[in-house]
Amino acid sequence: MPLIFSTMGADRKLFLGIDIGGTNTKVGVFDPHGELLGFAEGDTPAEGGVEAEMGLLGEIFDFLQVSPEQFCAIGVGVPGPVDKDGVVHSPPNLKGWGVVDLGKVLSEYLNFPREKIAIGNDANFAALAEYEFGHGRGADPMVMLTLGTGVGGAVIINGELLTGRDGFAAELGHIVIDPDGPRCSCGRRGCAEALISHTGIVRTAWSVLEKDKGSIIWSMIEGQFGELSPKVVQEAAEAGDPAANKILNITARHLGTLLADLVNIFNPERIVIGGGISRWGKALLEPAEKFMRRQALKHLAERVSVVRAKFYKKAGVIGAAAFL
Ligand SMILES: [Zn+2]
Repeated sequence: MPLIFSTMGADRKLFLGIDIGGTNTKVGVFDPHGELLGFAEGDTPAEGGVEAEMGLLGEIFDFLQVSPEQFCAIGVGVPGPVDKDGVVHSPPNLKGWGVVDLGKVLSEYLNFPREKIAIGNDANFAALAEYEFGHGRGADPMVMLTLGTGVGGAVIINGELLTGRDGFAAELGHIVIDPDGPRCSCGRRGCAEALISHTGIVRTAWSVLEKDKGSIIWSMIEGQFGELSPKVVQEAAEAGDPAANKILNITARHLGTLLADLVNIFNPERIVIGGGISRWGKALLEPAEKFMRRQALKHLAERVSVVRAKFYKKAGVIGAAAFL
C-alpha cells in the first residue's frame, strides 16, 4: 500500500497530518481533497525529547515511503499548550520536551519551509476534525472534550477555534468538579482531569474495590494492580458487576457535572466527546447526559445535544490536515 507514494513524484501535492500523543505518534497522508491515502503509527519515544521524536518520524516516513518534497503543508498536533507562534510549552505527557519551537525543529529536520508547517493543540485538532467531517459538523458553538490519558478541551464558535489571548484557551480538563477531590497535575484538587481521565477512573475504581472484595474485577486483573484499566471496568459493568457499575455511575456523575458547567458557560449547540474513555459509549454518556440535564440551567440544557465523536484513532491527523 505505501508504495503508491514513492511513485507520485516530488510535486508537493500531498498534505501531511501528524498527531504526537503521549503514547503513540500517528501520521496521515492526505490528497488535496482531504482523502486519507495512507496512515501509520509508532510508539512515541519515552526518552530523548524532541530529537528522539524526529527519529521516529523519519522511520514512519520510510515505512510510508514518503518524502518531504511531496508535501505542500504539514500540520502537527501535540498534547499540551501551544502558543500562537507554534511554540510548545512543556507538554506534561511528553517527558523531556520542555519549551520547544517545534516548527523550527521540524523545518530543519525535514528541510521543509517553516511557514508551511502548522503546530496546534491535539484537542483543538480533534475538534476541527469533528466540526469539518464528523459528528459536530457545523454546530455553533461546538464544544469538544477528549477523555484519555488526560482531559482535553476545545471550543469552536462561529466556525473558529477559541484561542484566548495566547492560544491556550479552553483548558476544560482543569475545571474543578470536586474541591476535595484528588490532586491534579496542575496542582489543584478535583479537576475533571483528576477524575475522568484514564488515571482518574482507575483511582475511583481502587476506592470502590477496596470496599468490595467480591467484585469480579479482582479475578479479572488476577492480582496484577497494573492491569486495572477503564476497559476492565467497562467489561465488568457489562457483565453486571455491582462494583463496576458503581465506578461507572461515579464517573458519569463527574462527567455530567462538567457537561453542566460547559452548557451553562457556552450555551453550545452540541458537545462532542472523544478519546479512549468515550468508547464506553452509551453506558457512560447516557447517565452523564441525564445528570447534566438535571444540573444545567433548564433553558440551556433543553437546547444542547451530547454525542460521541466520529473519529477515534485518526481524529488528530484528520484535524491537523483540516487546519492547513
Ligand atoms: Zn487541573
